[in-house]
Amino acid sequence: MAGYELQRDEVELFKVSEVRRGGRAPFGEAGDLILTNKAVVFVGKGSIFKQGNTYVYPLHSLKTYNGQVQVKVETKFGENPVLRLFLDTGEEAIISDGYTAGNFKKMANAINEAVNGASSNSIYNDANAIFGAKKIAEGLKGTVGVFADAMGSFVPKKEVSGKCPGCGATIHGFQGESIKCEYCGTRCTL
Ligand SMILES: [Zn+2]
Repeated sequence: MAGYELQRDEVELFKVSEVRRGGRAPFGEAGDLILTNKAVVFVGKGSIFKQGNTYVYPLHSLKTYNGQVQVKVETKFGENPVLRLFLDTGEEAIISDGYTAGNFKKMANAINEAVNGASSNSIYNDANAIFGAKKIAEGLKGTVGVFADAMGSFVPKKEVSGKCPGCGATIHGFQGESIKCEYCGTRCTL
């Protein structure tokens, strides 16, 4: 992409085109807003007379609170949506040239995921929805495992007990995990 060269271990994750930095149209500089795994980058388009400016906001410079990156999408009827980035060094406003905020909302989610690790953030945000899903899953016996797999480590482990295949002693552990018998040392999974 013009104006910004990705580092070797850097990849582009999300992009919103037709935005401005520094003011609404016709003010401000027109360009693209790019999210990489390292930074949010504004790449100014420039003109035939002037090269565009590039502004790099490293992900670690974004403020976070309670696991939420401080990035906000502001929408007002009849006004171009604004994406506000709250940084260690101050605030930055990126303004859409369009009137729909969808791309900015996706960008805000993508920034949260990039900072907090893939999907962990959206799972935290939707904690109630997930626990709701777990309750439904428990109602539908037999499908619990499917839901449990999908929810990964967010599901509390289930304690189980059974007989050791080696010596017949009663053993306890967590379902699906390797259990070592304390009497004979045989390993099994319940
Ligand atoms: Zn045993």
